[in-house]
Amino acid sequence: MKYYDYHVHSSNSFDSRLTMDEACRLAVNRGLNGLTFTEHIEFACPGFGDIEPDREHYIGEIMACRRRYPQLTLGMGAEVGLQEHVAAANRQAVAKGYDFVLGSVHNIDGVSVHDGSYAAGKERFECYAGYLAAVLRQARLFNDFDVLGHIDLIRRDNSYDDRSMPYREFSEQYDALLRELIETGRGIEVNTAALRYGLSTMHPELSVLKRYRELGGEIITCGSDAHLERSVGMHIREGCELIKAAGFKYLTTFCQRQPSFVKLA
Ligand SMILES: [Zn+2]
Ligand SMILES: [Zn+2]
Repeated sequence: MKYYDYHVHSSNSFDSRLTMDEACRLAVNRGLNGLTFTEHIEFACPGFGDIEPDREHYIGEIMACRRRYPQLTLGMGAEVGLQEHVAAANRQAVAKGYDFVLGSVHNIDGVSVHDGSYAAGKERFECYAGYLAAVLRQARLFNDFDVLGHIDLIRRDNSYDDRSMPYREFSEQYDALLRELIETGRGIEVNTAALRYGLSTMHPELSVLKRYRELGGEIITCGSDAHLERSVGMHIREGCELIKAAGFKYLTTFCQRQPSFVKLA
């Protein structure tokens, strides 16, 4: 069984101080076969403005780490923040060339999902359903990404008593979103960071993964969303077990945006 962490932020991301070399060293120590760095590209990010990694520096580091850690498969990826008014800028940024592009909704209509602002003043159902509808709008508007990041991120940053987001309760919203992704050859990820944020299940819950499989979804990656040393590869093995439990036989890896399928033993 091969293990890959497909969501890692090195210091090429504005919010991480984890060096790429240290991430690689830890990946080897922790028995991983590869890492794909998903550095933030985020235009018009509230409070931060336009964010994009220094490409020359990023390429230089990846090349050096590929030489230093030949036992690892290292991907040069990006996590692109989806927002209506920056779709054209995102398209240009992605066209510069990456191995893997994760599309993530961190802000909706200029309001942060991360810091609880989007949830503020909304009832739980309205908030979660509205969030999923907004993610669908973004996925329709901008389709140049391979995998949708943390499909239920809204669960992480709010103060509701019930922070679950099961398929049965939001079936209409999940179905529309999952169908859109499947029909356009895009996938979803299992993001293990939810456990670090005190949730009892990963992003997304098993019921959503099962439904994605049932609808014909095949493209799936697993990532820790590490920004710190301790998080590199965290819960990746459990993530793969969850993917298997949902009925998947293969995990997806990407090189130059082309998917390959690795057997889940
Ligand atoms: Zn993210
Ligand atoms: Zn991330």
